[in-house]
Amino acid sequence: MITAKTLKLSLKSLREFAKKRLSDETLIELDARDECPLDIVRHMCSPDKLGIQLLFIPEEYGGMGGNAFDVYCVCEEMARIDLGIATSVLATFLGSDPITVGATPEQKKVWLTRIAEEGILFAYGATEPEAGSDLGALRTTAERVIEDGKIVGYKITGNKQWISNGGIADAYTVLANTPAGPSWFILEKDTKGFTHDKPEDKHGIRLSNTAALAFDSVFVPADRLVGGVEGQGLNQAQAVFGYTRLMVAAFGLGAGWSALDRAIPYSTKRIQAGAPLSEKQGYTHKLIVPNVVRLEAARAYIEEVAERIDDGEGSLNTEGAIAKYMATEAGNAAAEASIQALGGYGYTHEYMVEKISRDVRITIIYEGTSEIMEMTISRDRWQSHLKTRGQYYHDEAKKLEALHTSHPDVGADMAAQALHALAEVMEKARIARLTRYQHILLRLGELIAYAECAGSLARRSTRMAENKLNEKANRRFDAAAQAAISRIFAREAALKVTEDGLRWVIGAGGMKDTESSALEASLGLPAVHRAQTGLISDMDYVADVLYGRAVKHQQVAA
Ligand SMILES: Cc1cc2nc3c(=O)[nH]c(=O)nc-3n(C[C@H](O)[C@H](O)[C@H](O)COP(=O)(O)OP(=O)(O)OC[C@H]3O[C@@H](n4cnc5c(N)ncnc54)[C@H](O)[C@@H]3O)c2cc1C
Repeated sequence: MITAKTLKLSLKSLREFAKKRLSDETLIELDARDECPLDIVRHMCSPDKLGIQLLFIPEEYGGMGGNAFDVYCVCEEMARIDLGIATSVLATFLGSDPITVGATPEQKKVWLTRIAEEGILFAYGATEPEAGSDLGALRTTAERVIEDGKIVGYKITGNKQWISNGGIADAYTVLANTPAGPSWFILEKDTKGFTHDKPEDKHGIRLSNTAALAFDSVFVPADRLVGGVEGQGLNQAQAVFGYTRLMVAAFGLGAGWSALDRAIPYSTKRIQAGAPLSEKQGYTHKLIVPNVVRLEAARAYIEEVAERIDDGEGSLNTEGAIAKYMATEAGNAAAEASIQALGGYGYTHEYMVEKISRDVRITIIYEGTSEIMEMTISRDRWQSHLKTRGQYYHDEAKKLEALHTSHPDVGADMAAQALHALAEVMEKARIARLTRYQHILLRLGELIAYAECAGSLARRSTRMAENKLNEKANRRFDAAAQAAISRIFAREAALKVTEDGLRWVIGAGGMKDTESSALEASLGLPAVHRAQTGLISDMDYVADVLYGRAVKHQQVAA
């Protein structure tokens, strides 16, 4: 187990290392050269140097036994430094995940110990040229090699595409079809018949090595079949999705904040029309505040999922999908807005936000695209809606209404509006059988993610007010600012669910036009509109906090 103090120290050494070795100039140069700094990646993974991998390996194999919350904190920090390097370092954890969840005790001992003690780098080989979002379409095969009636090994044949660390890893976990179905195999570099292509020339994360792999009858001994039983591969991959998606969610969060943390100070110095941009409401309330709010909504969700995984609630795939979807979409929007916030300078390589924006783009593609996340979220919660006869989100809303009575300032009432409206939209969709339209199914996924995040943020704000936040949690904002952030997001979520919900139900022909006023009322649209009262004042307050003017604001308000 890692204590809050140890985690803090580890994050501090990471920051200090980055300050010394990974200046903006160095990162920009490596990006332009399209080069993965292997020495830096190895330094970060060496047990006698930074040893980041030790944080993730269980103590029994020589690691420090970090949990999901630690993983989130480290991933956010790594992404703030550079998302390409973060991808390289964290690919080892992705690569070793099938081992962590599915390997035999002997396999775990060998491979996890090697990661801890030797700092070997792993790659995770699932995707193929023809099998991306649909892994079931994989074509790589693992043919049994039988001697004296016994399986002594497998011959792997096929191709993998877009594999992080593909050209630099020491070992690979590779998904291949056995006669009993998809299975993971562990393969070392330099194995006969195994080759990798040159690194891909990518849009972003150019400091990460991404390469295609080829297997031409590559022999692996039988003890390299993860878990020793064929056909477990897709289950093993599923078992870690909650966790791995949380890692990528934290990447989106860290990269998004890294962009905003350049735009915010820039805007205090850039004078236009006689005053700094930071004092222009039309600038801060469009480019900065909404992005801060959405990132913090995603953070609240990430923290809840991490705590629930650490409490042993299982793999939480849907929740991992919501965390990834919200954090990575918010990270992308924040980086995009940061380019705009720097104007012409933002559009150049020198000011970094352009690089961050290219880098963070990958987070809405790898580990499942945003569209696949929408589908995953929607399908699962649709079942919850059906099983509870439409009460699932009404029940969640009622919990938030109860929270509102004890904490009236955290936006729980507006989050409840979002959840009630969601329940109504889903019920309308059920009655009119609208999920036969794939677009409606996926749009529901988006609305679900917004409404659930509003609930998480209200709960996080309550915990903050009660001084009960996880001791490892980020405390950039105090309770008052956190509550204002929560109110802003809850208003947005309520409006989005209600208006978009109406749009899709009406747009898919789910009701007659004479019924639209009744639907607006059942979704609580007038109340959602009234709840926007106070929005600008909350945005002013958050802007004041971000720019260190909060005290002045409070004095004026008093
Ligand atoms: C830089 C980089 C690093 C990567 N690292 C790794 C790695 O280490 N290991 C690994 O195994 N993989 C890795 N990947 C692969 C990555 O996970 C896949 O690219 C991703 O899952 C999408 O698959 P695809 O590229 O085949 O796109 P496709 O699945 O072809 O999707 C193309 C588009 O269609 C949409 N789409 C797909 N299916 C549906 C559907 N049923 N309904 C509606 N829309 C749909 C998608 O959302 C997307 O917008 C990496 C990719 C990149 C670019």
